[in-house]
Amino acid sequence: MAEKKKILVIEDEKDIALGLRDAFEFEGWEVATAGRGGEGIELAKKMSPDLFILDLMLPDMNGFQVCTAVRERFKVTPILILSARSLESDIIRGLETGADDYVTKPFSIGELLARVRAIFRRAEMAGRRKTMTVAVGDAEVNLETNTATVRGRDVELGFYATQILQLLDERRGEPVTRDEILDAVWGLDANPTNRTVDNFIMKLRRKLEVDHANPRHILTVYGQGYKLV
Ligand code: CA
Repeated sequence: MAEKKKILVIEDEKDIALGLRDAFEFEGWEVATAGRGGEGIELAKKMSPDLFILDLMLPDMNGFQVCTAVRERFKVTPILILSARSLESDIIRGLETGADDYVTKPFSIGELLARVRAIFRRAEMAGRRKTMTVAVGDAEVNLETNTATVRGRDVELGFYATQILQLLDERRGEPVTRDEILDAVWGLDANPTNRTVDNFIMKLRRKLEVDHANPRHILTVYGQGYKLV
């Protein structure tokens, strides 16, 4: 039997933390919860989780600080941000500090479960892939570590951005629609918007393209989606 997936929930609202614990345990996953950021970071060192669920508003530190601290130690573990803040600037800031995905409160537990299942499924698929790198122009993306070497610099891409790139690479040269990306990467039951895909594409371009405003490799196919060339 496969080893139980371990999830660390860092969330100070007790009702939400308990609700998540119940739902995740029902799926057969192991769950630990922390109500403070510092406590969460300490707990992470002990348990080495397979996934972090992180609230942005915590009593002792803000979630961005927790995210940065977690990323220093856990380079590839997916981090999903949970927050009442639906401001796009917060979401982008979260993704820049190393988070992989976000769900804004109030959220449905079914939606969150779908995302977590998709994260674990994609991580398993990535583990079975033979070639672990994707070339984007002169940048080389490592699918194992979710990082890239870009003209001599190492950059973090995060789980979702890397997964999108892997999908585009599997169909290199042909357009992949936003819906196909959403289904493959987030899962059929999940309900992120097309805007989500666009945000991750922007992130990929900023990190990999020489001029992100005039991309040469991660291209928009108008009315269709995106393609990698
Ligand atoms: Ca909170």
